[in-house]
Amino acid sequence: MRSALIIVTIDGPAASGKTSVSRLIASRRGWAWVSTGAFYRGLAYVASREGIAVNDELALAKLCLSPIWRVQMGEDRTRVYLHDEDVTDEIYSEEIGAGASLVSRFPKVRANLLTAQRACANSISGLVAEGRDCGTVVFPKAQVKFYLTAGTLDRAERRARQQGGNVEEMRQAQVKRDHQDSSRQTAPMQIPSLAHVVDTTSMTLDQVVEQVDAIIVKELAEQHLSHL
Ligand code: C5P
Repeated sequence: MRSALIIVTIDGPAASGKTSVSRLIASRRGWAWVSTGAFYRGLAYVASREGIAVNDELALAKLCLSPIWRVQMGEDRTRVYLHDEDVTDEIYSEEIGAGASLVSRFPKVRANLLTAQRACANSISGLVAEGRDCGTVVFPKAQVKFYLTAGTLDRAERRARQQGGNVEEMRQAQVKRDHQDSSRQTAPMQIPSLAHVVDTTSMTLDQVVEQVDAIIVKELAEQHLSHL
């Protein structure tokens, strides 16, 4: 068995369970975890606070590199700080999700956030990274890749349970966001090659975690990598 930096990526549409599953897998294995959506949510939030329009690619690309805000990995949440104030609670609404989907379509924005996303894998033994392009663009050489999906109603019900709100309105907002994310030119959401596709419709969180973890253990053993 060799030990190496192990990277597991979990991509998929809105509310497919990526965050809950990746966080639990990381905690079980003692690895770090990052929700790359926090970079785009953080950017959309900071842009609105700074009065930058969601269609101003150059100003958004510049804001990506501004020292006024930063993203920080954590065990429970990927946190966002603006002027050293923790604004994490503000970014996880569907409204900011919709803004994130608008700012994330710009190539210059994506290019400027890539270095910070990749830096999440520095100086650690393992990382679970979740998002839309983690297995295709951010960490294309990840040892194990997943694509989680679930029916649109299931996903809307999950998110409405977590955040409150009307299920049908949530479903429509998520369908719109998924369409934007999968049809954009740069780094569209798609199933990475060699990814394990897990349809979590009607599965409990525990069942998904068990299935994903079993696949990781098997894949790493086949690659002669230690997962401890
Ligand atoms: O995963 P989350 O819902 O937090 O992502 C918010 C938005 O950020 C997505 O709808 C997508 O537009 C964008 N995103 C992305 N690439 C990623 C992660 C998120 O474009 N790797």
